[in-house]
Amino acid sequence: MFIPEILFPAFHELKEKFAEIQNDTAFWQDYQDSLANFSGRPTPLTYAAGLTKYFGGPKIYMKREDLNHSGAHKLNNALGQALLVKRMNKTRVIAETGAGQHGVATAIVAAKFGLKATVYMGSEDVERQYANVFWMKRFGAEVVPVEAGSRTLKDAMNAALRDWASSFETTHYLLGTASGPHPFPALVALFQSIIGTEAKEQILRLEGKLPNRVYACVGGGSNALGIFQAFIPHEEVELVGVEAGGEGPMAGKHASRIAYGQGRTGIAQGYKTLFLQDKDGQMLETSSIAAGLDYTGVSPLLANLSERGRVRFEAATNEEVVNALQLVMTKEGIVPALESAHAFAGAFREMQQCSEGESVIINMSGRGDKDIFNIAEGLRDEEWKAFIQRKSTQYQQSCSGDSGKA
Ligand SMILES: *Cc1c(COP(=O)(O)O)cnc(C)c1O
Repeated sequence: MFIPEILFPAFHELKEKFAEIQNDTAFWQDYQDSLANFSGRPTPLTYAAGLTKYFGGPKIYMKREDLNHSGAHKLNNALGQALLVKRMNKTRVIAETGAGQHGVATAIVAAKFGLKATVYMGSEDVERQYANVFWMKRFGAEVVPVEAGSRTLKDAMNAALRDWASSFETTHYLLGTASGPHPFPALVALFQSIIGTEAKEQILRLEGKLPNRVYACVGGGSNALGIFQAFIPHEEVELVGVEAGGEGPMAGKHASRIAYGQGRTGIAQGYKTLFLQDKDGQMLETSSIAAGLDYTGVSPLLANLSERGRVRFEAATNEEVVNALQLVMTKEGIVPALESAHAFAGAFREMQQCSEGESVIINMSGRGDKDIFNIAEGLRDEEWKAFIQRKSTQYQQSCSGDSGKA
């Protein structure tokens, strides 16, 4: 926790509440109820028959976080923190968002629990992910575009912390990933640990033994920690985190802090971890086809697990990711999010290293419907481009009252 003095009371209160709920059975009962009846948990562990046959190696299973309400693992954490807000008698939540997925999850829980919501989002990301901005507003949240710095996720996080410094008496900062100052990494990891708890039970039921490997994509680190935690005590299960390799290892073209060996220890945004930074300690620009992985820092818990050799890190490039996504779609009839497709790409590369009697789990952190624009662009789909142009013309005509002949 490396925070300005003005934020100390806010973090102190959160630390206390976090300690309180850990053994509060009524709290966990509420949490389980919300997950079951609002989000639709438990999510299945689906056997990927088509992919398994295609690679001819280990049995491939997918943990289906895409089937949560709102289409990703984000709601596990947003629901947990919203219940915490109720316990703290606060009336407003603020959040940072990059791709907008966490912003949407926050807007959803705010609507459900009758809270006011303000979501900070870099103005560059507002442009890139406008569909999510549209949904957040429809759910009743205020979306504030942040014009500072590179106008992306890290700038949104700074803006949220600034808001919190003057609003914490009524407001909770609903942080979206397992990064940031303590207790956020531990708190978010705990709310996401339901993923691995379920997956472990499910694989034991289906296979009668633990998987040989578990793969997850790594942005801030919450879905990876969510599924890894249950397997950490079992040394024989290999845990693999897959980062955004973007266009390859050249600085500024990716968001791989660990696999490319370019992240260096630093302190920023109130916490200490491996950051992509220049020689003066300024944060570097990052790049990825998956907006949700496009971040300069990484969960300090994962940086530690990497240092201890418990989690191995790999990176998948944009091109590998688009190819993996196509393969999952045609072999399984399922659309992974571009973020999740990193976990698939990382796994596919290594399927020859495992044998037939073995099994692997790939964490499918979210569904890809939200990525339709980026996937079409990644595939350079000409028919889609023409469709968007037609739609845009029609929309302009209908808004100006000139519906033409359509
Ligand atoms: C936000 C997001 C991620 C990245 O966040 P983590 O905290 O690293 O899990 C991954 N996948 C999806 C679908 C997301 O929405």
